[in-house]
Amino acid sequence: MEHIDTDICIIGAGPVGLFAVFEAGLLKMRCHLIDVLPQVGGQLSEIYPHKPIYDIPGYPEVTAQELVDRLMEQIAPFHPTFSLGERVETVNRNHDGSYTIQTNDNTTVHCQVVVIAGGLGCFEPRKPEIDRLLDFEGKGVAYMVKNPELFRDRKVVLAGGGDSALDWAIFLANVAERVTLVHRGDTFRGVPDSAEKVFELAREGKIDLILKSNVVALTGEGHLQEVTLLDRNNEVSHIAADHLIPLFGLSPKLGPIANWGLNISFSAIEVNTRDYSTNVERIYAIGDINTYPGKLKLILCGFHEAALMAQSAFKYVYPEQKLSFKYTTVYGVTEF
Ligand SMILES: Cc1cc2nc3c(=O)[nH]c(=O)nc-3n(C[C@H](O)[C@H](O)[C@H](O)COP(=O)(O)OP(=O)(O)OC[C@H]3O[C@@H](n4cnc5c(N)ncnc54)[C@H](O)[C@@H]3O)c2cc1C
Repeated sequence: MEHIDTDICIIGAGPVGLFAVFEAGLLKMRCHLIDVLPQVGGQLSEIYPHKPIYDIPGYPEVTAQELVDRLMEQIAPFHPTFSLGERVETVNRNHDGSYTIQTNDNTTVHCQVVVIAGGLGCFEPRKPEIDRLLDFEGKGVAYMVKNPELFRDRKVVLAGGGDSALDWAIFLANVAERVTLVHRGDTFRGVPDSAEKVFELAREGKIDLILKSNVVALTGEGHLQEVTLLDRNNEVSHIAADHLIPLFGLSPKLGPIANWGLNISFSAIEVNTRDYSTNVERIYAIGDINTYPGKLKLILCGFHEAALMAQSAFKYVYPEQKLSFKYTTVYGVTEF
């Protein structure tokens, strides 16, 4: 059992949680971050590490993982500490107003302020109804593409009709021996440019596109070898496959956050946009996890929220001090 004492405990080490360390650090507030995932980066590292992002100020184009790496570099002077692979279960208020947080691994964190940067919550991939799907998890079935190199020169079947299915079909076309995209409809939900690119690759014979069909069963000896398809006319076909990647989105599960006495609306935490505080004193919510009129689930919006949160949280960490706003161009970044 580990015990940590810090100024701010940040629940969620996605991009917004990471940037909150920087904004807190400028004001000399120490941070500890907890994430249920084994690595930092939230959705960026877990879902789309190799995809380019185009709407981060100052970066015309940056891959998701590179952005995470640069955030880690940016916060390094403030020496944040991490508990990764642990889920926050309870958040309890102490008599003096501080909080004690406990994880499922019995780590306890004592802090003055709690910042929930929990994104979609403890998310899990949606699993389609496919016979023997669970038997082949880790033996050919994966719900996310963490490392595209694992699919090099392999036969890959992707299932789904959203952005992830389209994007990975395009990307893996140059990596895998063969990519087959199976979709139950004949049009895609994903962005039109990506859908057009997929149709183009199919016309050029660079991927196989099987529409109006579902993957219904898997077979193999120890490892996936074949997927069975059923089309709208109830005709069955089989294709050889080393990997199946069902991409049907994530089911957002707030998880334990729902039990902490916070005002929740449609699986998100209601906040005051003055400082992104919640209805519970000293608990803030920033990034995808919060909701307010006009909310946009964008990384840059979460960064803004982190800045205002830190200015507001200062009074709880340094109740005797008056906060004066300072530009980094004037005062720089001082390590502590
Ligand atoms: C495919 C895709 C493409 C996208 N493209 C863009 C884009 O181009 N531009 C853009 O701005 N945004 C984009 N987004 C959205 C962007 O990824 C999110 O806005 C961003 O990740 C939100 O960051 P966050 O830190 O708030 O949450 P997240 O990245 O979701 O991180 C939250 C973390 O909290 C952890 N957590 C939750 N509950 C607990 C708990 N109880 N205990 C411990 N840990 C917990 C989770 O494990 C997670 O790691 C995209 C999203 C997807 C899925």
